[in-house]
Amino acid sequence: MFKPIELPYDYDELKPILDEMTVKTHYLKHHGTYTTNLNNLVEKSGIKEQSITELLVHLDQIPDIALRRAIKNNAGGFYNHNLYFEQLSPTARTEPKGVLKDAIEDEFGGFENLKEKMNEAALSQFGSGWAWLYVTIENKLAITCADNQDNPLMNFHGIPILGIDVWEHAYYLQYKNMRADYVKAIWCLIDWEVIEKRYKKALVS
Ligand code: MN
Repeated sequence: MFKPIELPYDYDELKPILDEMTVKTHYLKHHGTYTTNLNNLVEKSGIKEQSITELLVHLDQIPDIALRRAIKNNAGGFYNHNLYFEQLSPTARTEPKGVLKDAIEDEFGGFENLKEKMNEAALSQFGSGWAWLYVTIENKLAITCADNQDNPLMNFHGIPILGIDVWEHAYYLQYKNMRADYVKAIWCLIDWEVIEKRYKKALVS
């Protein structure tokens, strides 16, 4: 049974960057639906019990194409939203430190450049999807955008450590069509303590 993470904040605590209705709808309805769908699919198809990461990495082992697609969408949705909500905090430490800061310097020439590149990825994503910061199999940092609920775990591209959800459901209630405003604002909520933990874990896995 897959369960959504418990939010480490109240629905109204991410204001004014994300208002209560946006957080509540996104978490309860959207994340909730991915989770329910995933659990139903796993139960009905009799897929062996495994971690969400294992499931996403080995999607190609599901022979039925329609089932594989349904699992991909809902397992992706489940994993991505746990990652998204966990990395937000009303008391975020909004800048990287230590080894991750150094890696960002090496790869992107600094934190401001990283933000710029992530924002570009988020804004260039046509339609629903994500912008991802991830650790490659060579332990390098990289940025990509992805359609739907796809993420770098699928097809062994790497391990995601930061994701910006650019589905309209993530911002439309509050920001309407202004995706750029949402993407720019979300950095105030990204907790680099969380990202750093993910980075260190990704390096050794
Ligand atoms: Mn979402």
